[in-house]
Amino acid sequence: MPLITTVLCERPIDWRYGITLFFNAMRPGLWAKHDQHYGSDFGCPVGTPVRASVNGVARIYFDEFGFGHNIVLTPDEDKMGWHIFAHLSRFAVQDGQRVRAGDIIGYSGNTGNCAGLLAGLRNGSIVERLIDGAWRKVDAKTGAVIDAGAHLHFEIRLGGTTPDKVVCPMFRRPVNERGQQDGYEYA
Ligand SMILES: [Zn+2]
Repeated sequence: MPLITTVLCERPIDWRYGITLFFNAMRPGLWAKHDQHYGSDFGCPVGTPVRASVNGVARIYFDEFGFGHNIVLTPDEDKMGWHIFAHLSRFAVQDGQRVRAGDIIGYSGNTGNCAGLLAGLRNGSIVERLIDGAWRKVDAKTGAVIDAGAHLHFEIRLGGTTPDKVVCPMFRRPVNERGQQDGYEYA
């Protein structure tokens, strides 16, 4: 059994957007491979602000058939893992920029492997284009923008991609009307 640990951090997206696929859920359609989901998905429209989960340094990456345009945040604190924000449409930070928890670091999208659009991306019937400063999936023939499957995939890893290196995030809940923080949300 993989050893699963938790990391407490700020929620990377507004509370109005619920978790649509939980940490460690089996991926639909991939039961045969027992391929698990080592992140948390938040369904949200393209362009939703994405916020830093911790204080740290943000690096910008691109992985066409995986995380798409993504940010990896290295926390200032030890043992907090690497925080990955995937499928973004645009960035709000420079590569290597220092950020604080809660800062807007980018905007959600559906770049990379999102919602069954991967086959189209591989065979060229779907392409990704920069439109008004945002990376969008587009029908290669008609040029129509495809917003399907937009979500933020947020994942924490302890320095690797093997199952024993993944981490379950816990998000601090906002302070309530009595001025108290009423616990955590398990992803
Ligand atoms: Zn995901």
